[in-house]
Parts: sequence; structure tokens; C-alpha cells
Amino acid sequence: MMVGCTVCDNVVSVLSDLTDQQRSHYVCPACVERSGLFMMKDSGTWPGWPFLPLKKSVKGFPECGFLVDDGGPVTYLGNVFELKSGPMKDVVAGIPTKEYGSFEAIVEDGWVVD
Ligand SMILES: [Zn+2]
Repeated sequence: MMVGCTVCDNVVSVLSDLTDQQRSHYVCPACVERSGLFMMKDSGTWPGWPFLPLKKSVKGFPECGFLVDDGGPVTYLGNVFELKSGPMKDVVAGIPTKEYGSFEAIVEDGWVVD
């Protein structure tokens, strides 16, 4: 079947049948690779566990964010390198977040692993 990538708009052919839900959030292999989507989903591969730095370009300017292990598809809008140490709830207290329905949705919104 043919399906459009929600990130780059390329239409690609996939061998397996996708559900409507999967089709509406399809990310092509090139975008999966470029964004680090698999890494986002597997906190065991995060070099800076329990955080994974993300970046996004907004009108040509870089924006910083990060994921937190066990936090689900939620982007914390801040610089992971400026976090203080301490218990997790204190470390992330006050940092604005953006919740997504899935890690694919994070990639669709332009975030990539930094
Ligand atoms: Zn793509």
C-alpha cells in the first residue's frame, strides 16, 4: 500500500497493512533514521540517561527540549545541560512541557535527537 510520511510528505510503498491510526502517523524510514525515533522510544539506548536531548528548528532558530525516562511522549521545553541535580521531580519542576499522543507525533512536530 502507498502511504504518505507525515514529516517529509514523501509517499512511500509499504509491504504490511497499516491501521488508519498508523497511516495517519506514518513516519518514513529516512525520517525515522534522521530523527532518532527508535532511540526516543528506547530509553535503554540514551547516552545521557535518564534524559534525551532533543532539538527543533523554529523559523530557522534552534529550540531545545528533552525527554525524560518513563515520562512518555512528553517534550520538556528546556536545555538538558542546564538542569540542576536532585530528585527527578525537583529537577523538572517548573519546566514547561508539551504532551504528544505518541513518539511519532513528537517527530512530526519537528523534534529530532540532538
Ligand atoms: Zn519522511
